[in-house]
Amino acid sequence: MTAQTYLFPCLKDNYGVLLHDPESGATAAIDAPEAAPVEAALAGKGWRLTDILVTHHHGDHTAGIGELKRSHHCRVVAPRNEVQRIALVDETVGEGDTVHVGKLAGRVIETPGHTAGHVSYFFPADKLAFVGDTLFSIGCGRIIEGTPEMMWQSLLKLRSLPDDTEFYCGHEYTAANIRFAKTIEPDNKPLAARAAEVSRLLAAGRPTIPATIGAEKTENPFLRADVPEVAKAVGLAGSPAWKVFAEIRERKNRF
Ligand SMILES: [Zn+2]
Repeated sequence: MTAQTYLFPCLKDNYGVLLHDPESGATAAIDAPEAAPVEAALAGKGWRLTDILVTHHHGDHTAGIGELKRSHHCRVVAPRNEVQRIALVDETVGEGDTVHVGKLAGRVIETPGHTAGHVSYFFPADKLAFVGDTLFSIGCGRIIEGTPEMMWQSLLKLRSLPDDTEFYCGHEYTAANIRFAKTIEPDNKPLAARAAEVSRLLAAGRPTIPATIGAEKTENPFLRADVPEVAKAVGLAGSPAWKVFAEIRERKNRF
């Protein structure tokens, strides 16, 4: 049987997500923004929490770890480069490491930039990626601890995943991201189609994620910094992609 996922809102605009292996019964929470919604999700699904896979140290991704660990005695897996800033870590991981959730095998991809040690988790058999605050649907995370070059390289790693990879990010920011993306590529047709779909989903009270890597390649300006028309649109024709990316990120910060 293949992996199952369950997405649910936490805090103001965070998402929690559970990854479940039906064969072994193992369940991982990807990050733990707060304990209560994770507990409610587990109870609703009838799943038992065995692991927490942490993407980065920010409080809105880690605040629930203590309470969840106390009640479930679950294993906490966290990025090696942020272990001093995350409580109760059992196992640290870095680039290329394999993490098991029951029989599901995930690969660790280091995606620094939002924070210095941020990691993403990719489960190739099910083509599922958990990307924290590195990639958002039609957006990307703020560069808080890294450089634009570093963040661009992290996004390239995620962009290289198979097109039909479904990725889960840490926040529901898609509508605002689309408003910004249209200022960079007002004539992008796939983006316009996505905007309509996102409006429909949100009006129905539904989440806009997961999204696919393939769709983001055509719609997300932050993954398109090496497209000549995008460079031209921000007045940087012929510049290195990371500089185009930095300019787009800077514009989004001011948007
Ligand atoms: Zn964050």
